[in-house]
Amino acid sequence: MNLHEYQGKSILKSFGVSIQEGKVIDKVEDAVAAAKELTAETGTEWYVVKAQIHAGGRGKGTVEETGSHGVVLAKGIDKIEETVKGILGGHLETAQTNGVAKKVNKVLIAQDVYYPGASEPSEFYMSVLLDREKGRNTIIYSTEGGMDIEAVAENTPELIFSEEINPKVGLQGFQTRKIAFNLGLSGQAMKQMSKFVFALYAAYEGCDASMFEINPVLKTSDDKIIAVDAKVTLDANALYRHPAYAAMRDKTEEDPTEVEADEVGLNFVKLDGNVGCMVNGAGLAMATMDIIKLSGGNPANFLDVGGTADAERVEKAFNIILKDKNVKAILINIFGGIVRCDRVAQGVVDAYKKFGSFPVPLIVRLQGTNASEAKKLIEDSGLDVISVTLLQEAADKVKEVLA
Ligand code: GDP
Ligand code: MN
Repeated sequence: MNLHEYQGKSILKSFGVSIQEGKVIDKVEDAVAAAKELTAETGTEWYVVKAQIHAGGRGKGTVEETGSHGVVLAKGIDKIEETVKGILGGHLETAQTNGVAKKVNKVLIAQDVYYPGASEPSEFYMSVLLDREKGRNTIIYSTEGGMDIEAVAENTPELIFSEEINPKVGLQGFQTRKIAFNLGLSGQAMKQMSKFVFALYAAYEGCDASMFEINPVLKTSDDKIIAVDAKVTLDANALYRHPAYAAMRDKTEEDPTEVEADEVGLNFVKLDGNVGCMVNGAGLAMATMDIIKLSGGNPANFLDVGGTADAERVEKAFNIILKDKNVKAILINIFGGIVRCDRVAQGVVDAYKKFGSFPVPLIVRLQGTNASEAKKLIEDSGLDVISVTLLQEAADKVKEVLA
């Protein structure tokens, strides 16, 4: 599950990571009060207004309606309202929004942390993630922060470092010092960076994250180390341990059909093919997608209806699959182990009747407990359903109806 910057930062802060402080608002009217509140805490009267959407590249992105960028400095309380107006409620397109502009429902009014000083501030890159090949959490970091890390990886890979963490002993002091050293830090800045990395890693483990990306990590002119941005992805399978984090989910950022499927308890992932599938069990669903591919089609979705494929669930699944206008055929593939095929068949028949006419060919393969009763039930219903028993037959029928 992805989080907004302000949510990710609140988690980081709770684990002792120093962050660029801010106040989140969803109404222009609240801007000035929020900025004043922030000033009371931080002392600074310069701000940076940041669009809260689930995508990076906001600083260089553009708000459709106003032409404003998604991250804008406001040097003074008198600039706040106008700056917020340029972003909040608009639609922001960035290099990471896949060609669509995303509605900005919230903005973060943050403290400007790039105050001038004896030396210029430096921006670093740091992420924490699981290296699945090595089976270890890894900290990736670079001196080249604040910019497109993919471009750095492409052009100057030698400027990207990584540090593996041994799960038996955890992150060690020599490792955090090495990280600080590779980032060119010494003295107080090295100490602060070491502390920052320890806290960041504790946060990563403590919140059951699957990815942290902090770009930039800032070294201020007076040697503070601060997380200026925070892209946090939590492991959705661990959310049951963290109800407060689970509540941070922003459904407006997700695919609407996937949200709807989730609400009715269906495991659904939208894909871009033309054959809708409805299957019980994730393994069988994967095998069904393979057989669709082999027969010349392309799966339009992954859908596991689970163990209770009754009329209600089948109907909900139909509704969700048929929202996709690319769907040219639907393949239902049910193996009756505990679930009885005749029950599922009855579900299909009932749901089908509710629809009246069905917009695309429907191929149903029911195998296992009471399969023959199920086949008979479908054939006797007089509905326009292609009933098959073998997986190969199902594949052949898919090929036939797509031809
Ligand atoms: P992103 O573009 O979505 O990655 O958003 P960031 O939070 O990383 O902000 C984009 C850029 O804005 C950063 O790389 C910084 O260079 C700049 N920025 C962020 N906060 C401040 C700030 O407090 N002061 C100044 N001067 N620049 C900032
Ligand atoms: Mn960033």
